[in-house]
Parts: sequence; C-alpha cells; structure tokens
Amino acid sequence: MKNGRLKLILLLILALQGASLYAQDYSGQIKTVTLDAGHGGHDPGAIGAKSKEKDIVLDVVLRTGALIKQHYPDVKVIYTRDKDVFVKLYDRANIANINKTDLFISVHCNAAKHKAVYGAETFVMGLEKTESNLEVAKKENASILLEANYTENYNGFDPNNDEDYIAMTMFQSASFDQSLKLADKVQKQLIGPECKRYDRGVRQGPFLVLHKVAMPSILVELGFISNVAEENYLRSEAGKKACANALFNAFKEYKTEKEASLSSAVQTAEIEKVEPPIFYVQIAASANKMNIKSFKNVDSIEEKYVNGNYVYLTGKSTTLTQAKNKLPTIKNKGYKDAFVVAFIGNRRISAREAEALQ
Ligand SMILES: [Zn+2]
Repeated sequence: MKNGRLKLILLLILALQGASLYAQDYSGQIKTVTLDAGHGGHDPGAIGAKSKEKDIVLDVVLRTGALIKQHYPDVKVIYTRDKDVFVKLYDRANIANINKTDLFISVHCNAAKHKAVYGAETFVMGLEKTESNLEVAKKENASILLEANYTENYNGFDPNNDEDYIAMTMFQSASFDQSLKLADKVQKQLIGPECKRYDRGVRQGPFLVLHKVAMPSILVELGFISNVAEENYLRSEAGKKACANALFNAFKEYKTEKEASLSSAVQTAEIEKVEPPIFYVQIAASANKMNIKSFKNVDSIEEKYVNGNYVYLTGKSTTLTQAKNKLPTIKNKGYKDAFVVAFIGNRRISAREAEALQ
C-alpha cells in the first residue's frame, strides 16, 4: 500500500499544479473560444453501427465555429483539431491555455452497453461523485491510453483506477461558477425545440481535459451513438446542424450575459448602496465537509457552502489588492492552486465584479 500512497501524493501534486500556471483575470469579455472535437485519428471514440464519435463531433464543432465567426467576426475561434488527427488530451488543454482562451468547449458523443439509453448531458469539472458520472469521465479519459508516454505526461495517472480520481476532485477550479453557467445554457439548448434531446442534465465529473484548462470549460455529450434512433439523428444533416446551432446559441447567450453583467454590477452599486464585498483566498473545496484543522500553516479558516460544495477560505480582506497581496504567501505554504474570491454575504461573485463594486 506504500506504493499506492506515494502515487496518491504524486497525483495530489498534479492536482495542485492543475491549471494554476495559466490562471488569469478575466475582463469579462469573451474574445477567444477554443472548440475541442473529441478523439480523432487512431482514437475513434465511441463507435456506433454506422458512425464514429470522432467524425460526428468534428463536423458539429466546425459548424459551430463557422457560426461564431459569421456572427462575431471579432471573436477568435481556435480548434484543437480541424481534421481527422489524434491530439493528446494534454495538448488540447495547452492549446486553450497558451492562447489565453476565454471559454473551452469539448464536444463528444456517448455510447452505452444498453442500446436503449439515449439523451444529452453536459459536464463541468467537479466534485460530485456518482457512479455514472465517473463512468463517463473514465471512458473519455481513457483516450490517454492511446498516447505515447502517457505515464510521464500524467504523472502515472491511471484512468481506470477509482483511487486516482480522489486527488483530482479535491480542488475546485476558479472558473467553476462560470463553467456551470455555460453548461446550463448548452443543456437548455440541447433539450430545446430545435435539438429535442432527452435531458440527462448538467453534471459534474473528473475529466482530465477540463482539469487542465484554466478558463470556464465544459464537456458536452451530444447523445448516444449506441442508440439506433439517436445515432441516425446525430449523423444526419439536420441533427448535426441542430447540435451546432444549440452550441452557438448557448455561446451567444453566455457572451451577452457575461459582458452585460460587469456594467450592470457597477450601475447597481451606483443606484443603491449594496453591502460591500469581502475578499478571501480560497484554498480548497469539497463535496463533503472537511476538518478545518486539517489545513496546515494557515489560520482563520472560514467555511462557506457554494453551489453544492463546501469551500475553505483564508486571508479575509476588505480590498482586492489586500487579498491579492496575501496570495503568494498562501501559495508558498503549499496551497499552489489557491485563488482570490469575493463574497457578498454568502453569495460568491467574481473578483472583477467585486472590484467594480468597491
Ligand atoms: Zn468522447
């Protein structure tokens, strides 16, 4: 079991490193989006009777990108692949990070042993642990087994080992709230009047590709190509067009709302005196309550409950600058993935929004 423990520590380091290298402040404007067509090349993804996941998702992604370019010529659209080639999960995330992307959308199709299963679902990287969520994540993460040197690139992570997911799900990304917002919009579109998919909901799961990116990100499962009717729909011209429209409409809604929220926050502050925001440094998050005493080297820990998870905060400050100044020290104490958050009462708001309210 010693080996197991060593591995867990290595994975914990991996989790702590996460995407924090690329952490950035968001102006609130959506200027760049990365569209990630799952699988490709020698990795077909899920296989249906007449089609492969890699072909359907590439088609849908290219259509979505074309719609974004057509309606928002100022938005830069980046594809992790625009043809039938294999791209490592690691590289997919890197492409998004290096380009300082504002949003990351990974598109997939699902398959199940039971051919009767169908419907669309949208995932965010999250702490919720249900068996079926883990199953979907395992299937998608298994792509790394087709990569050369995957043991080195992922610190020995084994996508089939439940224990390897423990460290990964201990830390919540700074973009969790925004990712959820985008996921809600995508899911609403997929089950809407044009796409008409059965609603399997917005869910959370330990997806490697989402774990590695530093911006709001989602993984969409358009439907099951193991189901005859759904496969026929997804491979049809009408189906692919409807799915692309759904993704585009969700992008449009998210972008519009996000860009309006900053100016409206300032207006609200001007019209009425709102409670001033309080700033903290978030050091951990968990679906289950954690023991405050287990956080070493930091004091005055506060626990808050946000979006179904317990978050652990330190470095309480009245200004953003104050909190930002405390961040390097806290990171040096072993909380490398820590980031600044702001609260009004028990409501978490973005640091930018809070700054505007000061
Ligand atoms: Zn997939």
